Amino acid sequence: MLKVDRSIEPVPDSLTTVGNAVDNERVAARTYYTAIPVPTKTYKFKRYKEEDIVAALEHLFHGKCAYCESKYIGTQKMDVEHYRPKGKVNENLGHPGYWWLALEWNNLLPSCTDCNRRRGQKSYTLQADGTIVSSNEAENAGKECAFPVSGVYRAQVSQDDLSLEVPLLINPCDHDPDDHLIWHINNLKIPILLAKSVDNLPDEKGVKSIEVMGLNRFGLVTVRAEVLQPVAVQVGNISELIDITASMSSCEARDLCLAKIGRDIDALQACYEPDREYAAMVKSYIDSHMENLKRDLAGLLA
Ligand SMILES: [Zn+2]
Repeated sequence: MLKVDRSIEPVPDSLTTVGNAVDNERVAARTYYTAIPVPTKTYKFKRYKEEDIVAALEHLFHGKCAYCESKYIGTQKMDVEHYRPKGKVNENLGHPGYWWLALEWNNLLPSCTDCNRRRGQKSYTLQADGTIVSSNEAENAGKECAFPVSGVYRAQVSQDDLSLEVPLLINPCDHDPDDHLIWHINNLKIPILLAKSVDNLPDEKGVKSIEVMGLNRFGLVTVRAEVLQPVAVQVGNISELIDITASMSSCEARDLCLAKIGRDIDALQACYEPDREYAAMVKSYIDSHMENLKRDLAGLLA
């Protein structure tokens, strides 16, 4: 998961225009939910998928899922995800859902279907002895209407103060995922996400986000490993070239190699531009090797 600055994207016109179809739906929903007696059925919102909303989310997140960074754009339709669910809350039976945020820009995120829709998924977990094991049974994963919070406060109506609520799911526009998640890449074939440790306890937002969105599900980990493999080869090649260059006696050949090493390191860092798939994982892997590469390179230049 990668931090995203939502302020760089203008709010889509359809969400700000007064009297358009989106606004009419907003008004109709408010009328519906403030009726007496209070309705028990969920209002069917449709307008949060307007073309300009979808386009803005795709642009802001580079066609990637906000939670797992998979590029859905080439293979599937994006789910316009409500960070605070609009129709019900799995953890709070009887809660009508945060219906008043159904058409609010700050509550919308792009999601792949697996992060958003609940279904049985097998996944990987790290054991206390350091081994990574795969689950035998599929367990439900996918956010759907989940929205766990810490403590007892939960906004119930539109007048309630959202700033008092402490969500336990990471919103990459509101939180820095690096504060809550850490990559565990001891085995290149099984790169998994872990919750960061805080005072020797796993960070709650990290734990819940991995569990609810299924961020270590089989298929996702497999695809992440495929992206990581050529990056690891590239790191190895640069390291090898540094060793070869160190043994060269010709100044001219050495200078040519040094220039190539510099270009290769630049190319490596481009692998985690925000538009690249699984950029957070790739950056974590490269950062963990970059210090050694730069130290070895500095040794060559000394
Ligand atoms: Zn996803």
